[in-house]
Amino acid sequence: MEKEIFHHPKAKIQDYVPVVGRSTIEELRALAERLSGKVIQNINSTFTGGGVAEILTRMVPLLNQLGVDARWTTIKGNEEFFGVTKKFHNSLHGRKEHISSEDLSLFLEVNKKNVGELIFDGDIIFVHDPQPVALISEKKRFGEKWIWRCHIDVSNPDKRVWEFVRNFVAEYDAAVFSAPNFTQQLPIRQFLISPSIDPLSDKNKELPSEVIDSVFDKYGLDKDKPIIAQISRFDYLKDPLGVIQAFEMVRKSIDCQLILAGGTATDDPESEKVLDEVRERVSGNPDIHILLIPPESDIEINALQRAATVILQKSIKEGFGLTVTEALWKGKPVVASAVGGIQLQVKNKFTGLLCHSIEGAAYAIKRLLSNPEYADWLGKNAREHVRQNFLITRHLKDYLLLFISLYYPSDVIYL
Ligand code: UDP
Repeated sequence: MEKEIFHHPKAKIQDYVPVVGRSTIEELRALAERLSGKVIQNINSTFTGGGVAEILTRMVPLLNQLGVDARWTTIKGNEEFFGVTKKFHNSLHGRKEHISSEDLSLFLEVNKKNVGELIFDGDIIFVHDPQPVALISEKKRFGEKWIWRCHIDVSNPDKRVWEFVRNFVAEYDAAVFSAPNFTQQLPIRQFLISPSIDPLSDKNKELPSEVIDSVFDKYGLDKDKPIIAQISRFDYLKDPLGVIQAFEMVRKSIDCQLILAGGTATDDPESEKVLDEVRERVSGNPDIHILLIPPESDIEINALQRAATVILQKSIKEGFGLTVTEALWKGKPVVASAVGGIQLQVKNKFTGLLCHSIEGAAYAIKRLLSNPEYADWLGKNAREHVRQNFLITRHLKDYLLLFISLYYPSDVIYL
């Protein structure tokens, strides 16, 4: 079957009624009415690749369907700029990077250039992550309210880089973080809103088994041997080499295969290098499949996740970890590092297994492979945990409340 055949038109807001109930959707409509006449302009740095783009791709059309005029623009930058912002990203996550004063100047220069090229047409300007953070210089000229949405775990950042970013953040009206332990002291209002997945998107909807088979045929993969899979951008912070090492430990005693699949993001110049290293490391091992997946491969990723026996997410640092949410929603047993937002999702020994090392990951994978009933039980709990906490309908509600609350001076919202 060709991919086009099973792509469905995007889900409509009423299609979520069977998943979350009618009252949830009615509540969203009531909240959306309060924003009538307001334009919400999202600004980030890429339309594809990574969690931010993933969320906006569904959030913006669903807000539109609720009658909210939400829009999405990206800033433009060259490879050098994204090289600098990748270093920002790493160092805000606490990794050591050399950032020169030229890097900081380039960052400011590109933000300034974007100021000249972007059309600011939002009443609420919703800026995502550090790349466009300096656009706040235009606060006096455009928009009524400015929000900075941080998707990174900045609890333990490189101090110099955080100070630099913080000076801009402090000018916004509000900041949003994904988890309580990600926050920093700021002189502005802060909101805690965890990310979400769309249960009806191509990435997460149920798939017929023929579709899963066709994806496995396409990549020349065998579905019959137990599969350990990690789906992630090729990034050091996702620890692909650690994944391979853990797999090799498991493979010594259990016949299984590893699928390490992911793409590159337009705002991440490092990924080619990581991919090369990974390929070199596994060359000749027939049980390890490295798949470079193009953007817009949602059905493929969905199929790989559904066919996996165990999903691994061995990140060294993580913002929220949407790949984990996607796996939990599919009822898969997950082994994931106890970092960042993963800890909100994987409740150890209840919705999955947390690990703290390569050896720990290997041990947990072995445990799941050799105890399918336990793995199923974790998977069932996992799906329920996502239904309660991490679906896009909950996220829509939080965003609508956030937008409305900006127009009230205190934390009290009069509905
Ligand atoms: N993803 C994708 N293609 C890839 C790799 C990842 O579509 O090749 C998706 C993945 O399914 C998830 C998101 O990108 O929805 C990654 O979000 P996450 O929070 O896990 O990590 P990030 O990439 O933002 O660090």
